[in-house]
This record gives sequence, C-alpha cells and structure tokens, in this order.
Amino acid sequence: MIAAIPSAVLIGVDGKLVSVEVHVSNGLPGFTVVGLPDAAVRESRDRVRAALLSSGLPWPLRRVTVNLAPSGVRKGGAGLDLPIAVGLLVASGELDPDSVAGMAFVGELGLDGSLRGPTGVLVLAEALRDRLLVVPEVSVAEATVGGTGRVCSAPTLRRLVDCLAGRRAWVAPRSERHPGGSAATDGVPAGAHDLAEVRGQRLARRALEVAATGGHHLLMVGPPGAGKTLLARCLPDLLPELERSTSLEATRIHSAAGVGVPVGGLVTRPPFRSPHHGASAVAMIGGGTTWMRPGEISLAHGGVLFLDEMGEFPVAVLDALRQPLEDGRVVVSRARGSTTFPARFVLVGAMNPCPCGEGGAPGRCRCGDAARQRYARRLSAPLLDRFDLAVRVDRPDVDQLIGGPPGESTATVAGRVARARSLALERQGTPNAGLTGARLDRHAPLSDDAATLLELELRSGALTARGLHRVHRIARTLADLEGHRAVVAAHVGEALLLRCRRELLLGEGDGR
Ligand SMILES: [Zn+2]
Repeated sequence: MIAAIPSAVLIGVDGKLVSVEVHVSNGLPGFTVVGLPDAAVRESRDRVRAALLSSGLPWPLRRVTVNLAPSGVRKGGAGLDLPIAVGLLVASGELDPDSVAGMAFVGELGLDGSLRGPTGVLVLAEALRDRLLVVPEVSVAEATVGGTGRVCSAPTLRRLVDCLAGRRAWVAPRSERHPGGSAATDGVPAGAHDLAEVRGQRLARRALEVAATGGHHLLMVGPPGAGKTLLARCLPDLLPELERSTSLEATRIHSAAGVGVPVGGLVTRPPFRSPHHGASAVAMIGGGTTWMRPGEISLAHGGVLFLDEMGEFPVAVLDALRQPLEDGRVVVSRARGSTTFPARFVLVGAMNPCPCGEGGAPGRCRCGDAARQRYARRLSAPLLDRFDLAVRVDRPDVDQLIGGPPGESTATVAGRVARARSLALERQGTPNAGLTGARLDRHAPLSDDAATLLELELRSGALTARGLHRVHRIARTLADLEGHRAVVAAHVGEALLLRCRRELLLGEGDGR
C-alpha cells in the first residue's frame, strides 16, 4: 500500500514542499529512501525504527520504499523523520488514511519516540500554511509566528498516533504570547550593557549615536582595553524595534540557521553578531555543500555585525563583505543553484592601531613603521570606503575612571536616535547611510556657510571627492539629531572629525 504525506524541507531561507511517499510491499524486509536525500535523511530509517519500537508501535517486516518528491530537489535535515513515520503507519495499515487527510507533518524523532523541533519551523510552516500542520510541541511558538496557518502538536509519537486515531485529545496550543526578544550572541541578553557604564570616550559615544541614527558603518581604532567592545555592544539597544517586515525576515534567517529564535518565536530586537576572526568565509557569508545556511552577515540582518580585531580576519573574508554591504543582501552560489539571503546591518569594526596594539606610543610600541603600514593595509581601500565613521578610542585616563560623571544612559540616547531616525525615514524612506549622489544633494541641502567650509577643505586637499560625500552624509545625520532641516557649518565641522580616514589607522590623525 502507498501513503503520501505532505511535508517541507528548507532551501536557504525558503520552505520547499515535499511529498513523502511510502510504499510497503511484500518481499525481502528492507528500507530504502530515494529522491535526493542527504545523509541525515538516509539515517532517518534508524531513528524512525527505534522511535516506533519505543512507542509500542509495529515496525513492518516487509519491503519499505520511501520516495521524496519532487526528486530534483536535494532534501536535507532530520525534519522528515515524522512524515516518514506517519507514512509508514498509514501504508502498513496502522493508521486510517482518512485520519491524516488535509494534514502535513514536520519533526525530528528521538530514539525514545519523543518529537523534536527541526531547524526552520517558521519557514516550513509558511510553505505548508494551506494544511493543518502537525509539529513537535516545542516548535508551536515558532510555527505560529507568521500567523498564517493552523497548527497542532504532540510531545511524542505515541501521543500523536493516539490523537490521529481519535483515542486522545490534541494538546491545546498554548495561547499566551511571549514577548519577542533579541537574538543576542554569546548569551548576552538585550539591555545587558548600558552606555552609562562607558566612562569618558566623548567622541566614540557621539560616533555610536550617529551610527545608530544614520545606519552608518563605524570603525573604531585603539589599543586593547580601551572599551571598543563595550561600546559596540551598546549599539543594538540604541536602535529601535525592528519593523514588522524586517522582524519576520530576521526570524526566518535565525530559524533557518537553527540558532537563537527567542521564546516568543519572533526576533523583534536588532540582533548583535560578533563572529571570531577565525570564522570561515562560509560561516561569515553563508553557504555550505548540502545545506545552504545563512552566514553571520545575515544573522546580523536588521542589527549589528561587530568585527573585533578586524586586522586579524583573512583578507578574503573581509573582501567578501563588500558586495553585501553595498546591496543589503548576499547571493550564495553553489553547484546546485544560488540562494539569496537578506544581509542589511550596521557594521562596526574594531582594530588595534598596530600589531602590538600600542599604536606607535613611544616606549611601548614595538612595531616598525613598515609593520604598521602593512597592518593598516589589511583593510582594502574599497572596504574602508564602506565606513562613513571612524574614531580613535583610547584608554580612559584615571580621572575619568575614578571621578568622572556617569555618561548618558542608553535610554536617553536611544530617545534622540529614534526621533532623528523618524525624520530621515519621513523625508527619504531610508536611513541617511543609504543617501548617495543626487538624493544626497536633494535631501541634505547645505547652508551657504556649510558649502563654503566644504569648499575650503576640498581646495586645501584635506578632503577628497569620496570623503566629501561621507562628510555630507554624516552632517545630514548630525542635523537630524538637532531637528535641523538644512545642514549648517557646525554639522560639517563635527562630521569632519567623525569621518573615516585611513590616516587614523596609521596613527597620524589624533581625532580628538
Ligand atoms: Zn605597535
């Protein structure tokens, strides 16, 4: 007898419908899976068999063939365990075909018959929203986030079979809605770091506020222990809640990557990702051989990508960031086709000023000029061009650490950021970092004195054409923070201090 059970598999961050066809026939007992299964799907035989037997359900001593249709799509992951098990029970006559009509199934099976949540439940549920979807109990919140389909669940295979056979009632879906949360890395919850903890660092704090407001990428250069990491970790909390569409995109990415979907199922706070400099290009950008997994740049979608010790990342990995930084998405191509992942984030880079970290300080820095030049060149010119902002971050002095007043809190600064951001969004629909060419001129009109100041800088050679746009964009954000329509000379003057220059990496510009 044949059973066909609807399910879905993950392709990138999209769900693809799969029909799990199970055929049980007389013949030599055996179990074959066809239709481009990956290793995890082929191993499902052992999990399904153990789960059936531990649940007190029969394993047919007959010939079992499982076909995964359409056959042209590679199927990965263990989420097909449950539809295979259900198909087997229907095909061997243990379950009435009518009892599963109109339903779809996704879930992994434990050897003890428990149901475990597969990766990407949100995305799979979207693909199966026309049917009554059965998922493991742990996956209900994630499956219902999209708010589209109908979902029911069971904790174990035994319980599921009893529900399908009408012997027991379905587990009522939990109705309470958990608040969403951030998808912080390293187990650091949102709000764990407050700007009030940052002593001194006037310029760096300002740069952080500007980065949050305009979405400008920020480079921080300074010795170890100066507080660059703490500053970066404060950035997500300066950003407003994710818009609904970005929130759903971020949740799909986190779901598809199998990492950190918050309790309520929806990623609502800007994520913070901080990959180590040993991360591979695939881990950073996305991809993989059998399973197209989103990379760190997509996990940071809507939030912050922090690259600490940027000079230590392989040059190839850094250069691979350039296109996503330009497009806000990344196209990962492999032999079996290409996948597009969203990847719009604020990049924060931190770098020591030289290999030893002391940045040419007399008596402390052990690096020669040539070594320092080489180190600075690790950031290619095209990558450096993506940074609007760059600041020196030096270790706070003793007075600031002991007697200095506490800085403004995250909540205070975030209030200013939110007001200024909404000005930019009302005016041009995007944060200021996206303004180039004619749009920049149209949306950031310069007062006469501002134009004069920029002209002076250009004529003296202190500013290049590329630097001009950068200063213009930052000045637009500074004006928004003050609620000004036009950009005046004071904004340009401050933007000149905050703009990204290679000299900062070479320790020639002081920046303070
Ligand atoms: Zn040095």
